[in-house]
Amino acid sequence: MKRLLRRWFLGKMTIIIAPGKGSRASHLHLSYPFLSFLSLLLIGVLIAGIYFADTYIGYSKAIRTNRALVQERDYYSQQVEETLDMLEKVKDIESNLRGMLEMGSVRDIIENYPVGGSEGEVISALPHSSDIFERYRFDSNVAMVRRDVWEQEQSLSDIEGFIAQKKEMLLSTPSIWPIFGYITSGYGWRTHPIRGNREFHRAIDMYSPLEKNTPIRATARGRVVVAGWSGSYGRLVVVDHGNGFSTRYAHCSNIIVEQGDRVEQGQIIAYVGRSGTATGNHVHYEVWYRGKPVNPMDFVRGR
Ligand SMILES: [Zn+2]
Repeated sequence: MKRLLRRWFLGKMTIIIAPGKGSRASHLHLSYPFLSFLSLLLIGVLIAGIYFADTYIGYSKAIRTNRALVQERDYYSQQVEETLDMLEKVKDIESNLRGMLEMGSVRDIIENYPVGGSEGEVISALPHSSDIFERYRFDSNVAMVRRDVWEQEQSLSDIEGFIAQKKEMLLSTPSIWPIFGYITSGYGWRTHPIRGNREFHRAIDMYSPLEKNTPIRATARGRVVVAGWSGSYGRLVVVDHGNGFSTRYAHCSNIIVEQGDRVEQGQIIAYVGRSGTATGNHVHYEVWYRGKPVNPMDFVRGR
């Protein structure tokens, strides 16, 4: 063993470098230990090279990713700012709507909700702004978008409720003609066509050129409170519309609703006839408001 070690230690390798014809060859004597050292050094350099190359690849990849992330953040920051601008326009429209509907300001409703913070200003990018500032700007602008959208939602649902209420009122207010036809006797003083005396005619009488089976339509949504014979009215339908309004349809030939029925505006409730005190087929149409007859002409559209 000792001998083997000694032989290796003293062992040499000779490298002959032959430059070509005419020149003398040079001899390079390298000991085994030196050769081993050289091999180890080469392996070490190789490993270090691979390691540094890998690190460099990872580093440049990280730089590229970071650059992309910064671009992405700038893009979203800009999007948020543009969204805030759009929301300003929506606020204007909402404010106009409220004005047209003669509603209170949006603040009246919003103030009933626990919403934190003041008005807030859109924070725009500054040149050479730091990352912390960028982050703050982004976060607070996003918070503002969220708050504004929430406010719009509150306001729009308020407008929705308001319109629904108005629509209900409109549908419950007499506003259409009871039949297709023309007026033969208006609202006001007249000489009664049968009795011959002066009297106040608290209705409009309408005659249909189609005469028989002309449908009579409820002029507003409501509930039927009378559906049957009523003295000189003949066959009578009375509809209570709520909000102080009711309508009467007299001299019907046929009634197709019953007391207690809910009727929609435009729904057929009876047919034109000459029952009761009437000289011919017509509908005697009355509109009552708060217990008094009013001129039905004030409650028809598109005369
Ligand atoms: Zn009449």
